Amino acid sequence: MSAPRSKPIASLSVDLDNQWSYMKTHGDTGWEAFPSYLDIVVPRILKFFEDLDLKITFFIVGQDAALRKNREALASIAEAGHEIGNHSFHHNPWLHLYTEQDFEAEIERAEEAIEGATGQRPVGFRGPGYSLSDATLRVLSRRGYLYDASMLPTFIGPLARAYYFRTAKLSGDERQHRKAIFGKFSDGFRPNRPYHWRFDRKRHGEGLVEIPVTTMPVFKLPFHVSYVLYLAARSETLAKAYFRSALLLCQLTRTHPSLLLHPLDFLGGDDLSALAFFPAMRLRSEAKLRTVRETLFSLSDRYLLSTVKNHALSYAQPSGRVLAKDTLGVGRVA
Ligand SMILES: [Zn+2]
Repeated sequence: MSAPRSKPIASLSVDLDNQWSYMKTHGDTGWEAFPSYLDIVVPRILKFFEDLDLKITFFIVGQDAALRKNREALASIAEAGHEIGNHSFHHNPWLHLYTEQDFEAEIERAEEAIEGATGQRPVGFRGPGYSLSDATLRVLSRRGYLYDASMLPTFIGPLARAYYFRTAKLSGDERQHRKAIFGKFSDGFRPNRPYHWRFDRKRHGEGLVEIPVTTMPVFKLPFHVSYVLYLAARSETLAKAYFRSALLLCQLTRTHPSLLLHPLDFLGGDDLSALAFFPAMRLRSEAKLRTVRETLFSLSDRYLLSTVKNHALSYAQPSGRVLAKDTLGVGRVA
């Protein structure tokens, strides 16, 4: 009898963007009090992944971790056995404009707050708005990070930016700050699968691993769950067909996807009226949860779903030997 063939690894992550960070990006007043929906959404997401028996990665914003009111919700994520990643301190989607020194201060502050709230020191980073630069990568490497997950290899970054500028209420200054958010057209030519950033190969062996947020192979269109839900708000059939096509292209090109989720994929218009401007917020929460569940089922038929850290490790050490020293001394090296 032949042994069952093991499935290739794919990873799942939630960018735990909070209510205030959406309001801030959108230019709404009131974000300065850091309104939070973590108490509602975190237990819901944890229950959802417990039912599916999956451990995934949560990229947490340092500012949330620094506030006492969010401590319990954030600690429960680590207690449930999920990986905790760093999603910056202030959630500014223009980190690529920071100097190396400013970025280092930002990331260090986030690490401290996140470790304080969850007991885990992150070994992975995702920049808000897919922001990254040579400076951010150098700092991550120097600080012993195993991976960066900030690259979205798509051609439509400039389109997303145009849409954002049309809908957000921003002053001239704020527009200047946000001028290059959501990436460049040329990002579409970057690889859609894990790779090593070579700049620090000499210093760090194989160097920092990039786990890009997978886009639809060939077309390089995003297919993370928020896009699927955006389509589902118009037609569930269209949304399913879109996701299935993306998965088929992943299989044909042997791309092991890293799929991105957001809290709003688990919250409906019935939960939250403050974010009505957001696409797909007219769906109710049960409808969203059903679509998310179906999406993940079709992914888990083909792939072994795990954390982004395990995805990075399986790329960095395909033989299974421990190559990445867990320099920050956290978590298991699977
Ligand atoms: Zn974010």
